Amino acid sequence: MTDIAENLEKLRNRIIAWEQRYNRPAGAVRLLAASKGHSAAEISTALTCGQRDFGENYLQEALTKIIPLDSPEICWHFIGPIQSNKSRMIAETFAWVHSLDRVKIARRLNDMRPDSLPNLNVCIEVNIDDEPSKSGIRPNELMDFAAEVRQFPRLQLRGLMAMPKPCDDFELQRASFHRLYESYSLLKNRDLPLDTLSMGTSSDLEAAIAEGATIVRVGTAIFGPRP
Ligand SMILES: *Cc1c(COP(=O)(O)O)cnc(C)c1O
Repeated sequence: MTDIAENLEKLRNRIIAWEQRYNRPAGAVRLLAASKGHSAAEISTALTCGQRDFGENYLQEALTKIIPLDSPEICWHFIGPIQSNKSRMIAETFAWVHSLDRVKIARRLNDMRPDSLPNLNVCIEVNIDDEPSKSGIRPNELMDFAAEVRQFPRLQLRGLMAMPKPCDDFELQRASFHRLYESYSLLKNRDLPLDTLSMGTSSDLEAAIAEGATIVRVGTAIFGPRP
């Protein structure tokens, strides 16, 4: 059985060590537990260990956990592809969306965000390695897309997210994340008040932290392999 408490403890210590190694301020990196494929009971265990941010990829699966857990302590992040017909429930249920890459979806999320909730925090997903048939905005389209997203009053544009091509080489991992960091810096220099770089998973979070990640999305290293 996976020891979620032990995994979380190890991961937090590694994050602290990497913040120091790469001259990041203490507490600069927020840990998001990517819980797709794992149960409400496993999420509940992580919650007991003080984990508050959880990310889900599929709306139907997410609801089977969000509804029974019914926890005001959890901050839910949507990190998967968004189908148009799911946007209402996403706007009603999540605090964050990391995977925004279409204006049509931005408009729907904006229009459907309930008045009773704060603005929806969003990150633009960038196809950082310019891979064909992969979700995310092309780096050269990012400026225009960010300007469009900013028009929506119920969306709070917080930053950028990417899922680079899987790769074992630390320096190549850094190079991909560095490109996202550069796009992020460019947007900030255009006076966009961004504060979030969502990048890094179980296999490449050290490289992501080295390159300025403020949110790392970690599943396997917390919950073990997905069933
Ligand atoms: C599954 C997933 C993760 C976590 O990946 P692990 O390798 O399990 O850490 C992070 N981000 C996204 C978008 C994911 O779909």
